[in-house]
Amino acid sequence: MSFALTDEQIMIQTMAREFSRKVVALTAAERDRTKEFPSDNLKKMGELGLMGMMVPFEYEGSGADTVSYVLALSEIAYSCASTAVVMSVHNSIVCESIYRLGSEEQKERYLKPLAAGDIIGAFAMTEPHAGSDPVRQSTTAVRKGNEYIINGTKRFTTSGRNAGLIIVTAITDEAKRHHGISAFLVEKGTPGFAVGNEEDKMGLRASDTTDLIFNNCTVPVENILGEEGDGFKIAMIALDS
Ligand SMILES: Cc1cc2nc3c(=O)[nH]c(=O)nc-3n(C[C@H](O)[C@H](O)[C@H](O)COP(=O)(O)OP(=O)(O)OC[C@H]3O[C@@H](n4cnc5c(N)ncnc54)[C@H](O)[C@@H]3O)c2cc1C
Repeated sequence: MSFALTDEQIMIQTMAREFSRKVVALTAAERDRTKEFPSDNLKKMGELGLMGMMVPFEYEGSGADTVSYVLALSEIAYSCASTAVVMSVHNSIVCESIYRLGSEEQKERYLKPLAAGDIIGAFAMTEPHAGSDPVRQSTTAVRKGNEYIINGTKRFTTSGRNAGLIIVTAITDEAKRHHGISAFLVEKGTPGFAVGNEEDKMGLRASDTTDLIFNNCTVPVENILGEEGDGFKIAMIALDS
């Protein structure tokens, strides 16, 4: 078995290294002080193919392998851990979950703008009383006709303030415990959805970490990711990735 990098992996690593050291590094320390989100750099990273790295070409991603993704992520992290953490949640949790479990319509609608860096993706599972053990979460999604109504509070959501799309987990059937958790795609601006407190962290300060508040937030049934009850599975696949 050969552990040598392929020509393509070396090319991606070199490109990410150059961008990281020539562009990302310039403002990293200042942004860590000011907490300024690196929107401009993330957009440029979209143009370089770094925001949909493992998304296939048909959805305008880079179609790269996981090793290439990790090489690029390490290069970005070398200059700015905040930018890397946003890139990581966006690529390996949000893009990956939508690609692997989304409907064709969801892939068409969301993967292209995500891969272009036009919108940033976030993932909201943690709650004030549910961290390591997601079964303790209390956010609910109740189906009424062709809609789900989401109520609850999420905590520590990376990019919560700056994301255009959030994968939100919620209980759809409490009796089924982890099989009763589902995942929903919630767009920024959906009525009933608001950003709450932002953590004042000791590091990763240009990456916002926020509470998200859902107060009768209503999404169409088409916004469920996978099937009802797939939320825990989606979370585990996403976090593995
Ligand atoms: C910067 C940052 C960004 C984050 N971004 C996101 C995000 O984008 N989306 C999201 O959903 N969440 C996010 N999180 C939340 C993160 O996933 C949680 O912090 C994590 O799941 C741990 O939960 P907790 O903080 O409630 O700790 P707890 O669950 O209270 O755990 C505290 C400590 O106890 C240990 N522990 C817990 N249970 C057990 C057990 N049964 N046996 C032994 N030890 C145990 C844990 O290992 C840990 O050391 C983020 C957190 C941070 C700090």
